[in-house]
Amino acid sequence: MSRIEIVGLTQQFKDHRAVDNIDLTIEDGDFVVLLGPSGCGKTTLLRMIAGLLDPTSGQILIDGQDVTHLPAKKRNLAMVFQSYALYPHLSVEKNLAFPLNVLKVSKEEKRERVLGAARALGLESLLHRKPRELSGGQRQRVAVGRALVREPSAYLMDEPLSNLDAKLRTNTRQELSELHDRLSATFVYVTHDQVEAMTMATKIVILNGGRIEQIGTPEQVYDAPASIFVAGFVGSPPMNLLEGSLSTRDGHVQATALGSTSRLWPGTCPEHKVTIGFRAEHLRLEEAETGAVRIDGVIHQIENLGGEQVAYIKVGDHTVVAKCGREVTLERGERFTAGVRAANVHLFDQATGRRME
Ligand code: ATP
Repeated sequence: MSRIEIVGLTQQFKDHRAVDNIDLTIEDGDFVVLLGPSGCGKTTLLRMIAGLLDPTSGQILIDGQDVTHLPAKKRNLAMVFQSYALYPHLSVEKNLAFPLNVLKVSKEEKRERVLGAARALGLESLLHRKPRELSGGQRQRVAVGRALVREPSAYLMDEPLSNLDAKLRTNTRQELSELHDRLSATFVYVTHDQVEAMTMATKIVILNGGRIEQIGTPEQVYDAPASIFVAGFVGSPPMNLLEGSLSTRDGHVQATALGSTSRLWPGTCPEHKVTIGFRAEHLRLEEAETGAVRIDGVIHQIENLGGEQVAYIKVGDHTVVAKCGREVTLERGERFTAGVRAANVHLFDQATGRRME
């Protein structure tokens, strides 16, 4: 069991604040993904949790115990890195058993734990091989297995799949999710790959410039991004974001963007500069007349994704992205009129960058 509480955690590297006053509670059994662009502080945060880097200020508690300045080996956490760091001269079995050498574990128990980890990760038939005789994915599984045998209270992983090819990454992603379900252990996982975050996380923490932009389930982060940054970072293609303004007319809030004005919903609001967001899949042909936001442009590029197609629509100087099924006939150079229902329109305050409720 492992609950990790982070309070006001900061890491200052000379003139650069890599992690800035972060508060975060990771519940027992959570699969938390720290997600964000390169340099946002993910690894630095993970290394402080692991005990590999001393925080400048703040606190880390594991199951209520203050471990802020406790050395890594006393935290009972297992870390899996991007580089597998396997011992090249040892067999898979010996690599798996290695972390147990420093623990007081009987020979029988050692063998049992190694076989247990090998079974869990499908490595039984590879136990006698050396790392150089393994594929990248198999090596990665040995690295995870080495964490597994220690039966730590939490697993910390730093981009463990980034050296794998696309297919292996998909498989290993599923394996990690299953492993998490089976172990009911706490996972803290660093990545800049939003697909990994969306598919594995129970909770995503989106970081930007050393600060937390949003904490939420994958659905919350996708369906209700808390800021323009999150809206633009999560989702492929990213959310359409148009600069515009809000005003009131005839008892309705209306939005103006791309030179046209449309009614959003009943109510009033002060004049306001906003960013209007909507997802590519919410731009629908059948909403062309009735949508709260309406788009009238020319298709300038079409991408075929197999089951779906993505169209890039030129509206004046702007490009808006639409996603639709293959049954819709799209032609380059043709006119495209579509709309977005009010329920699928996201509004962000341009001054603060935050979502407006
Ligand atoms: P990536 O996805 O590229 O690994 P990240 O989000 O994990 O990025 P960090 O490695 O945590 O980012 O780095 C955060 C910031 O702190 C970066 O600007 C980085 O250059 C800086 N940084 C990291 N380690 C040090 C260090 N030891 N000394 C000075 N600056 C550092």
